[in-house]
Amino acid sequence: MKIARTPTRFAGIAALLLAPAASASLPPPPTAVGLALQGPDPAWSITEDLTTEIGPRMAGTDAEAAARRWAVQRLQSMGFVNVREERFDMPVWVRGAEEAWLTGPFQPQKLAIAALGNSASTGAKGLDGDIAYFTSFDALVAAPDTDVKGRIVFIDNQMEPTQDGSGYGYYGRGRFTGPNVAARKGAAAIVIRSIGTDDHRNPHTGVTTFDAGVKPIPAGAISNPDADQLVRQWKRAQQVKPNAVTASYDPAPLRMKLVLTPQDLGTKHSGNVIAEVPGSDPAASPVIIACHLDSWDLGTGAIDDAAGCGIVTAAAKHVMSAGQPRRTIRILWAGAEEVGVFGGKAYFDAHGKEKHAVALESDFGADRVWRVDFKLPDSAKALGDRIAAAVAPFGVTRGKQPANGGADVGALIAAGVPAVDLAQDGTRYFDLHHTPDDTLDKIDPVQLRQNVTVWTATLAILANSTDSELP
Ligand code: ZN
Ligand code: ZN
Repeated sequence: MKIARTPTRFAGIAALLLAPAASASLPPPPTAVGLALQGPDPAWSITEDLTTEIGPRMAGTDAEAAARRWAVQRLQSMGFVNVREERFDMPVWVRGAEEAWLTGPFQPQKLAIAALGNSASTGAKGLDGDIAYFTSFDALVAAPDTDVKGRIVFIDNQMEPTQDGSGYGYYGRGRFTGPNVAARKGAAAIVIRSIGTDDHRNPHTGVTTFDAGVKPIPAGAISNPDADQLVRQWKRAQQVKPNAVTASYDPAPLRMKLVLTPQDLGTKHSGNVIAEVPGSDPAASPVIIACHLDSWDLGTGAIDDAAGCGIVTAAAKHVMSAGQPRRTIRILWAGAEEVGVFGGKAYFDAHGKEKHAVALESDFGADRVWRVDFKLPDSAKALGDRIAAAVAPFGVTRGKQPANGGADVGALIAAGVPAVDLAQDGTRYFDLHHTPDDTLDKIDPVQLRQNVTVWTATLAILANSTDSELP
C-alpha cells in the first residue's frame, strides 16, 4: 500500500523551539518537545529493532519471553530505572494448520483463512458442512437454533474505515462473541468475514471468547475478497434449479471443508515489563503510560503495538533528558494483551491499590494524533487547557467525549484513575490490523515522530502537574 506522507509542516515549530536566545552566549538547553522534533527518533529505533530482532511475539510463547528480555535490556540502556519483569500465568493458545475450501455446488476453491485465538481444532482430517449464511452478527443472534445446528456459520459483516476506528466495536462483535453465539446454537464451526477494511487476500486474526460452560468450536476469519467470493457463490447456490423438468425452486446448500488445528498449551508464563523515570517528589503519585509488547503471530506486530511502545518510551526519554520531572513516569510494556488483556489485569492486581495520577496508552498504530480527549477531575481543568494548547500546533484538536484510555490501563481507569487519550488517525489501521501486513514498512516515520512530539508535550505537562491538579 502506498503511504500518504504527511508534509513536514512541523519544521517551522522545530526551528522556533530550537532557536538559541539572541543575546545569550550559550544556547538554552533544549526542551523535551525540542528533543522530540530533532535528531534520531527512539520510537523508530524501538519499533525497527523489536520487529527485526524479535518479530512476531505471541503471548505466552518463547518469542514473547525473548521480547521481554530484549525489552529489559533496551529500557536499561536508555537510562530508565527500576526496570523489571513482573511475571504472571495465562492460558496459551497457538495456531496450527489452517485451510478452507468452498466445495460445492460449484468447482472447489481454496480460501485464505486464519484461525481466531481460542478457536477449537477440527482435527487433522477437518470437517465438512453446509454453510448457514448471516448478513450480520445481529442476524445470527436472532436466528432460531434450527438454522444453525450442525452447520458452518458464516457472518458477512463488511467493516468500513473511519478516522476514529469507531466501527471496530460494532463490526468486531462478529469476532469477539460471534463464535460463542454460534456454539450456543449448536453450530459445527464458524467462519467470519475478516474484521478489516482492506481488499487484500489477508485474513485478520484476533481473539474470540467462549463463555464458561460453552464448548469452543472451530472459528476462523477469511479475507475480504474470499468473503466476497463466498457470498457470490452463496447467492448463486440459492438459484440452482437441479430439477429442470418441474422447474421447482430447489436451492443447493453451499458447502465448505475446514481444517483448523490450533492447540491449547495450558498455563504458561507471560509478563509485564516496567521501567521508570524517577520523579523529584517521591511523595507525588506517578503518571502511567502503557503499550503492549505481545503481538499476533501473522505479522511482526509493527503497528500493533511495537510503535505504541516506541511512542510512549520515546516521550518518557525526551521528558527525562530535558530535566527531572516532578512525578515519576512509569512505563508499562504489557504482556499478553491480544489474547485477553492478561498483562493489564496482572498490573492492576499488583498495583491497582497504589495511587496513579493519570493513565495513558498508545495502541492504535503509528499514524498521526489528531484529537485529544480528557477524563480529568474538576481540579485539573486548567491542566487540560494547557495540554490542549500545547498539542494544537501539531494539528491536534480537542474532542468532546471523555477519554477511555487503552486496554492495559482500562482496569485502572475503571477504578477512577484520570485518563488522557491522544487519538490516532485510524483510517488505514484496520487495513493492516492482525494481518501478515502488519510490518515495519507500513510505518511513516514523519507521522511516528508527530506522535512522539504530541506525547512528549502532553507527558511533560502531566509529569510536572501539581498535587492540587492531580492528587
Ligand atoms: Zn494492540
Ligand atoms: Zn491487536
